Amino acid sequence: MGLIGCHVSISGGVEKSPTRGKNYGCDAMQIFTANQRRWEGKPITDEAAKEFKQELEKNQIKSVVTHDNYLINLAKPDKQKRQKSLDAFYREIMRSDKLGIPYIVFHPGSHLGKGEDYGLKQIAESIDIVLEKAEDTSPLLLLEITAGQGTNLGYTFEHLRTIIDLSDNPERLAVCYDTCHAHSAGYDITSKEKYNDTFKKFDEVIGLELLKVFHFNDTQKELGSKKDRHASLGEGILGWEPFRRIVCDERFKEVPMLLETPDQKKYKQEIATLKKFARET
Ligand code: ZN
Ligand code: MN
Ligand code: MN
Repeated sequence: MGLIGCHVSISGGVEKSPTRGKNYGCDAMQIFTANQRRWEGKPITDEAAKEFKQELEKNQIKSVVTHDNYLINLAKPDKQKRQKSLDAFYREIMRSDKLGIPYIVFHPGSHLGKGEDYGLKQIAESIDIVLEKAEDTSPLLLLEITAGQGTNLGYTFEHLRTIIDLSDNPERLAVCYDTCHAHSAGYDITSKEKYNDTFKKFDEVIGLELLKVFHFNDTQKELGSKKDRHASLGEGILGWEPFRRIVCDERFKEVPMLLETPDQKKYKQEIATLKKFARET
């Protein structure tokens, strides 16, 4: 069984999140390390970091993942305007490092009309600039597969592979597989055959050892729609079967599987159902 959990609010301070996670039944959880819709995130105090780590221990949360700020665009064409994103991304890394969080999930970026090749190069360059400044930190940066809305990059396995190859820091990069985004991007996991084909393709292009986190979302939109509309598990087009397959898949037994579904009131039940699937195998 993978490490099952969900995205958890940090309202009141990061140190308050582990108890909330425990109440949902999390073995793993995802957080924002600051307000996700503001550029300026407060740094984490020594006190808060210490308390956060103690709370994780106490609540038996085995793995934590950061999701980056929504405003960041590492593919931003104008170098001057991009700087704001680079600074914010740097602060994400510093905060996560201080909290002892090993993974930061981020959206690769949007080329805003400049074209895909340009955007992919820009993202790899941005990553390298930020990592040069943050070279003493340890979190891995996880490129999240996107639905491919608008000019968002990262909706094919090849895009993700290209960014890793173009970067001077491939050892600091890995991937987050979002089940809603991937379906909208055209990767089908709804039947056993398609499931096997999709992860075979992932392995060939990226390498399954680089799949470090799953985002577990059902989707409201059809295969290849390029629309990002999450649904609660079992209430969308995917249904429960693909999630059952993933939690029971031996290859993913150490991978955090985190809900970002729209109704927090259902988290507890969704997590309980996933854990039941895992126990039944
Ligand atoms: Zn995301
Ligand atoms: Mn996601
Ligand atoms: Mn999404």
